[in-house]
Amino acid sequence: MTENNPKPTTTDAGIPVSSDEHSLTVGPDGPILLQDHYLIEQMANFNRERLPERQPHAKGFGAFGHFEVTQDVSAYTKAAVFQPGTKTETLIRFSTVAGERGSPDTWRDPRGFALKFYTTEGNYDMVGNNTPVFFLRDPMKFQHFIRSQKRRADNGLRDHDMQWDFWTLSPESAHQVTWLMGDRGIPKNWRHMNGYSSHTYMWVNAAGERFWVKYHFKTDQGNDFLTQEEADRLAGVDGDYHRRDLFEAIKRGEYPSWTLKMQIMPFEEARTYRFNPFDLTKVWPHADYPLHEVGRLTLDRNPTDHHTEIEQAAFEPNNLVPGIGVSPDKMLLGRLFAYSDAHRHRLGVNYKQIPVNAPHSPVHSYSKDGPMRIQNVSDPVYAPNSKGGPKADAERYPEVATWAADGEFTRAAYTLRKDDDDFGQAGTLVRDVMNDAERDRLVANVVGHLKAGVSEPVLQRAFAYWRNVDSTIGDRIAKGVSGS
Ligand code: NDP
Repeated sequence: MTENNPKPTTTDAGIPVSSDEHSLTVGPDGPILLQDHYLIEQMANFNRERLPERQPHAKGFGAFGHFEVTQDVSAYTKAAVFQPGTKTETLIRFSTVAGERGSPDTWRDPRGFALKFYTTEGNYDMVGNNTPVFFLRDPMKFQHFIRSQKRRADNGLRDHDMQWDFWTLSPESAHQVTWLMGDRGIPKNWRHMNGYSSHTYMWVNAAGERFWVKYHFKTDQGNDFLTQEEADRLAGVDGDYHRRDLFEAIKRGEYPSWTLKMQIMPFEEARTYRFNPFDLTKVWPHADYPLHEVGRLTLDRNPTDHHTEIEQAAFEPNNLVPGIGVSPDKMLLGRLFAYSDAHRHRLGVNYKQIPVNAPHSPVHSYSKDGPMRIQNVSDPVYAPNSKGGPKADAERYPEVATWAADGEFTRAAYTLRKDDDDFGQAGTLVRDVMNDAERDRLVANVVGHLKAGVSEPVLQRAFAYWRNVDSTIGDRIAKGVSGS
């Protein structure tokens, strides 16, 4: 259809309508008739446009692309998606954590890096962040943590006092807070930041050998950041700065890419490693576990409908394919429940039938009925059956991504190992990785944050927290806040 000869407007039932501008009235000046179904449909649809926003990671955007395996890692995993030469379609969603759906992209926050691989063996989701660690190591604290970063009950305002109150009472947060307050806490845009699994996962090869692994998606564009001043200015002039940057870059044909590199730990080494390798507040030093290249992720297609393809996209760390499993990381184990539960709440139980979430490989499940189911189910609807229905294949798909566990039921912290502490790796980041200019900006960022509404006794605890990270940095922060 051309501009002069557009398609006729219809109702959602496909029935042509006579006006996009006027409701049906008794005479031009008379009351509106209840029989104006088109008007009612417009109003009713509008009232239902918004889904509940994600809690957290509400503000985000994404793109489609592909992952191409360039190296041979078949010695470590049998997953089809990571076999040499394999090319798999992907979807990624970048996000901020604490802000609402309309919040500025440039607020200081970790960024979500949620990837879906549409593999030949079902959907594989790697729901990561742009940081290799996290604030917590037990999912019991996650809800409290997010509430402390969002809004107060009384005035509905965000509140640095409650953020630092929570952080300083949770010393395991120190590594992630140090990372967050540094340059990488506000990336220049999503193209110029890394993505990490953060969690430890398991890989299993064709012989059934198991390995513990961490994913590092290293940006091919180079890491870059915004200063606090630049970010504050952009938050005012363009709240969608990062979304716009990604969309425009792909539209121009500048396709961003990331090289996937893995850290790989032999299964048995985890038992005796000097700190708990499943603790999400810690990285594995590269000197102990170097990076192994796997392949390249490239984003080359923008969504055509943000709502259906990004807002309704559902990523979940429990979407694992044969050859990839979980680890005893308690945060990861908690997330295995939380994500799919959130999707059932936001999108309904049949969310995997929304095209963006539907696997590109065949589905033979026994799930049935429920609201908005659009794919027909056929008999038999139960297993076991003698009627030719699907049958689990234990020989081809054995449950191998497992480990042995034993002990009384308990509510306890991880057993401490020799090098397990809350502040060591944060101190290494400040002293050995950051340069002088980066340390200066870290101090300025923390001082600015603490000066914006943090009161006693939280303030004194914040100084002690930073002195535990690094005594010099702690003293500089205390001096910067007190002004002496
Ligand atoms: P390395 O010197 O081998 O690695 C340092 C890492 O720090 C590099 O991956 C680098 O990422 C990253 N980095 C550089 N500048 C910054 C910054 N301003 N903020 C955050 N990260 C930065 O040392 P180790 O492996 O022994 O780790 C030392 C410390 O580095 C850790 O305690 C941790 O805080 C940090 N780190 C470690 C990572 C790991 O997985 N081992 C990953 C990221 C950070 P890039 O190459 O992309 O520039």
